[in-house]
Amino acid sequence: MAIITGKQYINRIDDLQNEVWIEGERVEGKLSLHPAFRGILKSKGLLYDMQHDPSAQSVLTRTDNECDELINFSFKQPVTMEDLQKRKEAIQLWARKSGGTIGRSPDYINTAIMTLATSHTYFDEPYATSIKTIYNESKKKDLSFTHTFINPQANRSPHYFESLQEQTKEQIIAAKIIEKKEQGIVIHGARLLATQGGMTDEILVLPVGGDTLDDNYIYAFAIPSNTPGLRFLCREPYASQATSSYDHPFTYQFDEIDSVVVFDHVLVPWERVFIYQQKDIVRRLSIDTNLTEMLLFQAISRQVVKTEFLLGICESIATTISVHEYQHVQDKISEVITTFEIMKSLLESSINGAAPNRFGTMVPARNPLMVASTYYQKTYPRLIEILHLLGASGLIALPTENDFSSSIGADLHQYLQAKNAKAKERVQLFRLAWDLTMSPFGSRQTQYERFFFGDPIRQSSYLYQAYDKSFFIKQIKEFLKNCTT
Ligand SMILES: Cc1cc2nc3c(=O)[nH]c(=O)nc-3n(C[C@H](O)[C@H](O)[C@H](O)COP(=O)(O)OP(=O)(O)OC[C@H]3O[C@@H](n4cnc5c(N)ncnc54)[C@H](O)[C@@H]3O)c2cc1C
Repeated sequence: MAIITGKQYINRIDDLQNEVWIEGERVEGKLSLHPAFRGILKSKGLLYDMQHDPSAQSVLTRTDNECDELINFSFKQPVTMEDLQKRKEAIQLWARKSGGTIGRSPDYINTAIMTLATSHTYFDEPYATSIKTIYNESKKKDLSFTHTFINPQANRSPHYFESLQEQTKEQIIAAKIIEKKEQGIVIHGARLLATQGGMTDEILVLPVGGDTLDDNYIYAFAIPSNTPGLRFLCREPYASQATSSYDHPFTYQFDEIDSVVVFDHVLVPWERVFIYQQKDIVRRLSIDTNLTEMLLFQAISRQVVKTEFLLGICESIATTISVHEYQHVQDKISEVITTFEIMKSLLESSINGAAPNRFGTMVPARNPLMVASTYYQKTYPRLIEILHLLGASGLIALPTENDFSSSIGADLHQYLQAKNAKAKERVQLFRLAWDLTMSPFGSRQTQYERFFFGDPIRQSSYLYQAYDKSFFIKQIKEFLKNCTT
């Protein structure tokens, strides 16, 4: 059976001994025992365990013709609309386990690997074989990936090209090819921002978008996370301080950690490289392979679940403290309902408008997905603001679970009760809302959704540029023609 269990996943990550740095130290020993990682590793493990649960297995796994074993749903190429529907159900089943807060559940990048490999004829040889090999190995071993596709934020001026400066190796910032060898290419420099860096089996490195004047920045590959010279420099963890799932229900379980990835003279073997200095391939990669649509389909399916969850929290808060009869409260919650229905409809519309591409993949329609993505980047912060407005001081007056069992417990039980909940239940609900929107974990969630799939300004610009507006212009011309007499 290709599908792994949670235990197998955790053991595999522990055995890799990836070079992970956090709070000034290299993680020694098992990553799964480190306070910053144990919660998220356990939560990801539970996702893998669901593949073996008889009540979820038919949703989360597929049979595979090539390896004649059950594989994770995300590795299976969808070829019919029904496949897309089933894919959506599987993504959402996993997403519900974290209220949509695990942005990089394994199905996200597995989808990229599947999409690129089933489009292998898009690549020249020997690179076509490389991506097929990476895919076959991934689905057989049920591998997970982190990924990086942006350069460090050193200088984003439109007039700056790092490659145009004369550089010694010490001056390199953005990761680039510094040597071509018989065994492979040598990469040196850094990339951002690998969420879950160090806690996946492998890392997928995709080209940075936009034009580059230097071919040494044009490459794509996947390598094991423990490849010599590969370092994951993690941000400050949020989960280390979270001691219970009552106090920090999200942080405790789902802090994914983000990391800067350093490639210190990393040798990438040729058989792991699937793009090498081919500008044209990079320019049209997302469009010609439909990578954008396939990744957005995963993301929007997850965001629907997240909105569902936000709606549940808003309504629970409003009814717990009995503010739901105020018209402005109804107005605010109806904004969340509207977002939920819009996102759900755009997702369904992408399935209804799906069409097969030349590689046989049933590709969901691009426009509804692009619209959903740009819309959510701007709307998510408003949904968070609504929760803040509904919760008011209730999001601040939040004792911990320990306080309830201390000598002030009686006061808390008396003074923090609500119309429709006992004090401890009420505080638990408000802590959930706080952790999703105001704790460091919650603030990161907002930043994550804002910048998901790229800078919102450039995302809406892509939508504008790619959207066919000819019909609308023609209609206005026709209308004006009829206004002339
Ligand atoms: C929580 C989180 C997790 C992430 N996880 C991952 C991950 O797993 N893998 C990964 O590869 N990436 C990840 N990212 C990175 C994400 O893809 C980027 O944040 C996004 O692409 C924007 O790039 P940037 O952060 O470098 O912003 P910048 O490009 O530096 O933008 C900064 C500001 O300058 C403006 N700006 C910059 N350049 C231009 C321009 N050319 N035109 C107009 N305006 C411009 C932007 O609008 C923005 O306001 C993550 C980001 C976050 C916040």
